[in-house]
Amino acid sequence: MRKAFISPSKYVQGEKELNNLGYYIAQLGKKALIVGKEEDIDRVSDQLAYTEDKFEVEFVNADFQGEVTRGEITRLQKIFKENHCDCLVGLGGGKAIDTAKCVAEGKNVIIVPTIVAQDAPTSHLADIYHEDGSFDASAHFQDSPSVVLVDTAVIAKAPSRYLLAGMGDALATYFEARATRRSNSNVNAGQPNGIQDGIAQEAKGTNAAYALARLAYDMLLEHGQAAKLASDLNQVTPALEDIIETNVLLSGLGFESGGLAAVHAIYSGFSLLHEKSDALHGEIVSFGTICQLLMENAPKAEVEQVLAFQEAVGLPMTLSDIGFDDMTDEELEAVAEKAMNPKGSIQSMPFDVTVQAVKSAILTADRLGQAYKKG
Ligand SMILES: [Zn+2]
Repeated sequence: MRKAFISPSKYVQGEKELNNLGYYIAQLGKKALIVGKEEDIDRVSDQLAYTEDKFEVEFVNADFQGEVTRGEITRLQKIFKENHCDCLVGLGGGKAIDTAKCVAEGKNVIIVPTIVAQDAPTSHLADIYHEDGSFDASAHFQDSPSVVLVDTAVIAKAPSRYLLAGMGDALATYFEARATRRSNSNVNAGQPNGIQDGIAQEAKGTNAAYALARLAYDMLLEHGQAAKLASDLNQVTPALEDIIETNVLLSGLGFESGGLAAVHAIYSGFSLLHEKSDALHGEIVSFGTICQLLMENAPKAEVEQVLAFQEAVGLPMTLSDIGFDDMTDEELEAVAEKAMNPKGSIQSMPFDVTVQAVKSAILTADRLGQAYKKG
């Protein structure tokens, strides 16, 4: 059986680690094109100036426009060439990170998340969008990022909503890897290079990735609540460090090499209605986790463990929590149909799924979340 596992060359996290960014740039050259939203770069400008000086490297600001479009990628590639840059730094949230990966085409890219709202930083994958914000395509690169650098002090100062959303994304990782394993489906780590849609190359998950996915779930149950409280107080604690590692490294490796299943398919269904709600990716994934467990008819104790965790930390458990409580029947139908994409991760479920089954899971998960909240 062919199996694949992919990861960044280096993962480093610590308090004030951003001060060492110049060191990693110096391993790749002298000049780095920095892709980040203005407000994110401003938040850490003192540290960027410090590291530039200390390690004698130079930043070229890309003046990133905020969306991962083919036009923006081409524009930044031109700036990269004109300025004779040696490497890319993607700094900020998902959009800046994905754009940096695309501009670099996977080569010599350093990822610096300033929030940990989802598990994309470690992956060799980036999502590209149209100018109007609708989804265009996914791109896979030969290499994962050269370095993923996480400054825990920067993460602690960010709004807790992001950390929580990252926990929502990490919550699904184990259950989706488990479904992928049960169905012996392919994982993303086996994807060939380039922009394409769906799983194109046969590769199954490793035991290593499955163990990391399981560890992500165990870490959330053990340290999630304490980490959320530390984040509310902007404090770096061992629990917060554990959850930052969970959201970025464990969930990142777990999803990419362990596989996605119904949860992310349902997320992609809801993305059709993105104008209705400002829910973050990980918030929708939190709700979607209950949907998948219901589709699997998972043991009551397991479903209750997930619900109890969601309630303890404040993650979405109902449609109202993610802003979709006024969905029409037509919208629900459209969400379920989109989730059933024949090339999508719903195919990794270990049994046949229908549009009706997805609809039933969404409606029942919502009721279950409501009932659980009422106690
Ligand atoms: Zn995700």
